[in-house]
Amino acid sequence: MTIILFIYGTCIGSWLTAMADRYAIDASPYYPASHCDTCQTPLAHWQLVPVFSYLLLRGRCHYCHTAIPATTFIMEVTVGLLLTMLHPTTGTHLIWLGLWAFAALCDARTQTFPGWISYATLPFVLWGHTPLTILLTLIAALSIRLLWPRWRQPLLGDGDCEMMLSYLLLWGMTATARWILLASTLALLQRSASRRIAFLPYLVISATCWWLWSETR
Ligand SMILES: [Zn+2]
Repeated sequence: MTIILFIYGTCIGSWLTAMADRYAIDASPYYPASHCDTCQTPLAHWQLVPVFSYLLLRGRCHYCHTAIPATTFIMEVTVGLLLTMLHPTTGTHLIWLGLWAFAALCDARTQTFPGWISYATLPFVLWGHTPLTILLTLIAALSIRLLWPRWRQPLLGDGDCEMMLSYLLLWGMTATARWILLASTLALLQRSASRRIAFLPYLVISATCWWLWSETR
């Protein structure tokens, strides 16, 4: 069962990366079939097997030898590992993490992500909370949506705030503090020359690390 879940996970990871690539260039998710981004050659079936194909191709396109981003391989392995930890109580949390991982992949490429993700993740985190918490969360989410476009040079993206709100509701204050601390440390270590960085990827990496930490203890 673990192996089957791992295989499913690698497929989902591969699919999420491909969808984010297509979101970045505003291409259709369905058409054309998988191809090399550089030489545009359609990929053969043996080049589409998650994890395996990347290793077999040694991380390069079979035709033009352009390097395939390591993100693809890392996402396939990580989502595969996460899915092996699927049990009835973790299912919704995994979907939540998967949706935010997709947002992070889009953020890394374009510093934007599809806005529906914030709304789609809310039901997962509001489940089981009191009506008052639900009301306050909806007000907070709406405020972020209304206020951020008016803020000329926001220090933090609206998506980052929405994910923080989500995480807070799921795991509580202490967990949120250590989660943001790790994400900020990772972002500082990787600091690029650009003044604006995509922060969602660091938040998702940190969330995945804390998840693995809590699951393996
Ligand atoms: Zn190519």
